[in-house]
Amino acid sequence: MSERSPFVADFLNESGLNRQFVFDLSALPADIADKLAPQAGERQLILFGHGGRRLWECVKASGLTGENPIDDYSIRTVERWFAEQVPGHRYRILFPGDQPIGLQALGKLAGWHHPSPIMVGVDREWGSWYAYRAAVIADTDFAPSPAEEARSPCPSCVTKPCVAACPADALHGGQFDLERCSRYRLQPESACAHGCRARQACPVGSQHRYEDAQIMHSYSRSLAVIRQYYR
Ligand code: SF4
Ligand code: SF4
Repeated sequence: MSERSPFVADFLNESGLNRQFVFDLSALPADIADKLAPQAGERQLILFGHGGRRLWECVKASGLTGENPIDDYSIRTVERWFAEQVPGHRYRILFPGDQPIGLQALGKLAGWHHPSPIMVGVDREWGSWYAYRAAVIADTDFAPSPAEEARSPCPSCVTKPCVAACPADALHGGQFDLERCSRYRLQPESACAHGCRARQACPVGSQHRYEDAQIMHSYSRSLAVIRQYYR
């Protein structure tokens, strides 16, 4: 068997897409691999994510001003990475895009996703301040990434300050109550219209907390979706 190529990460790390995970398609569970509908020659799925503040700094510096500058920037960065760092490969960007991708299922396989009382995964290094940014299927032959293990801080978090910080009481009983959260966020005086009090109360990875403008950007988008839903 020929030797695998090492993954080329420096450009991505500097560009804010500082989490990467390589899956061999042949090693993915069938239900996930089938949904990807691989084409001839495609061998790998590469998951690109970000952790911390660097991505937003890069997005601002890029001058992109569309409706979703983070997606636009992520696509542009992945395209540049393929063109400049690993030329000669065929690839298709599945996410961002219209194709349904089980990002959280992939995140679990990678060891990136760990359930928490809040609605997002929490990681012992990044806290909740990370996200999936792109998923790409390619004809590459990188060494597959090893799954990251034992990264959930929640089981050993005794006081669970996130639960107490939620003004809507939407996290009690260990179950996130989306309806309760959404209705509270829609209230005129809501403290959570443009951010989540519970998420901000989690002490894990707080040094990586997004800057206010990024939080405002993300939560304004989710608030618009909720408004649409409850119209
Ligand atoms: S406050 Fe504790 S339980 Fe809540 S998300 Fe953070 S680590 Fe998990
Ligand atoms: S957004 Fe507000 S209401 Fe919803 S879970 Fe977070 S703290 Fe609770």
